[in-house]
Amino acid sequence: MLKKLLMTPGPTNVPEEIRKKMAEDVIHHRMADYKKLFSEVSENLKDFFKTKQEVLTLTCSGTGVMEAAVVNLFSKKEKVLVINTGNFGQRFVEIAATYELDVIDLKYDWGSTYDLDDIKAAISENPDLKGIFMTHSETSTGVLNDIQRVGNLTKDTDILLVVDSVSGMVVNPLEFDDWSLDCVVAGSQKGFLLPPGLAFIALSNKAKKAMERSNLPKFYFDLKKYIKFLKEKQQNPYTPAITLIVGLKCACDLLLEEGLDTIQAKHTKLRKYLGEELLKLGFEHFVTDEKARGNTLVAVTHRGIQDMDKFRETVDKDGVSIAGGQGNYAGKLLRIGCLGKITKADIDRTIEEIKKNLI
Ligand SMILES: *Cc1c(COP(=O)(O)O)cnc(C)c1O
Repeated sequence: MLKKLLMTPGPTNVPEEIRKKMAEDVIHHRMADYKKLFSEVSENLKDFFKTKQEVLTLTCSGTGVMEAAVVNLFSKKEKVLVINTGNFGQRFVEIAATYELDVIDLKYDWGSTYDLDDIKAAISENPDLKGIFMTHSETSTGVLNDIQRVGNLTKDTDILLVVDSVSGMVVNPLEFDDWSLDCVVAGSQKGFLLPPGLAFIALSNKAKKAMERSNLPKFYFDLKKYIKFLKEKQQNPYTPAITLIVGLKCACDLLLEEGLDTIQAKHTKLRKYLGEELLKLGFEHFVTDEKARGNTLVAVTHRGIQDMDKFRETVDKDGVSIAGGQGNYAGKLLRIGCLGKITKADIDRTIEEIKKNLI
C-alpha cells in the first residue's frame, strides 16, 4: 500500500531522515548539548529570514506566533491597518480586535491581492497609524502578496510592518533586512519539512523599541524573555518542543544544503506544472491574475463538481489529502499544497487520483 500523501498547504509530509532523527531519545533542554543545538538552529533560521537579527523559536502553531506579534508590539487603542486578502488576513483582524487595537480592516475579494494606492492613501489619511499587518502567502486563496512594496512605504516611518509568512517562507522569496520588514512570523508545518508545533519570529530594531512601550498583557509569549534567554543562555525560557528542535536542525541542514534559490525555482516549476495538469481536467484557477499566484499552493474551482469537500474526501480515501475552501468558499475550492518535500511524481499521483474520481 502506498503511503498517504499530504498535498495540503500544511501540514506536509515529513522526510524519513527527519522522522528518524526525532525518534531518538529526548535530551534535556538545560544542558550543554541542547544549548549547542539551539544556538545552531537559531543561527540557521537567520538564513531563512535573511536577517542579522535573532530569530526566536516558540512552541505553538502559527496562530500563536501571530498573537505574540500583536501583544508584544502594540498597546491598547493603537491604530493598525490590516491588509485583509483572505482567511489569514482576517485572523490578524480578529486577534488585533481581541486586544482592543483600533483596527482598519482593508478587505479585498478573496483571490485578489491588495492595491498599493489604497495603502498609500491609508497611510496619508491616518497619521496616527502604528502598524500594518499583512499576509505573505494567503493560504486560503493561493495569493502571494508583494511585501517588499509595502516595506518601501513603511521603512522611513514609525509604522511597523508585521508579516505573516507562515506558509510563505522557504518556497517563496523573503528578505527581512533588505525589504525593511519589522516583524515576520513563520511556522514549522508549512515549508520547513516538519510537523506542527514550532513557530518562529524575527524583529527589527524599530520593532524592539516598540516592544519596550507595549502595554498589552502577555506572559508565555513575552518575547523579551525569549531574546534574553537566547542571548544569555542559548535556551528557551520554558520547556521547548525539544524533539521538534532536533528535527528542525536536520531540516535546516537539508534545506540549506539544497539552497533556498534552488528550492524556490523548483517549487515555481512544480506549482506551474500542477496548475497546467489541473486545467487539462477542466479546473480553473481561483487566482485569475497569474502574477498574484505564489508557490505555496494551487487553488482551483470546477464547474462540474458540486461539493468539493465531498470530492476531496473520496480522493483522501484513495490516499491523497488535499485541502478545501475556507470561510465562504467552503465546499467550493480545492487547495493543493505545493510546499514541503514534494516531487513531480507526487503531483502525478495526485492528478491521477483526481482524474479517477472525476469520472
Ligand atoms: C497555517 C497558517 C497560519 C497558522 O495556522 P495554525 O493552524 O495556527 O498553524 C497562519 N497564517 C497562514 C498564512 C497560514 O498558512
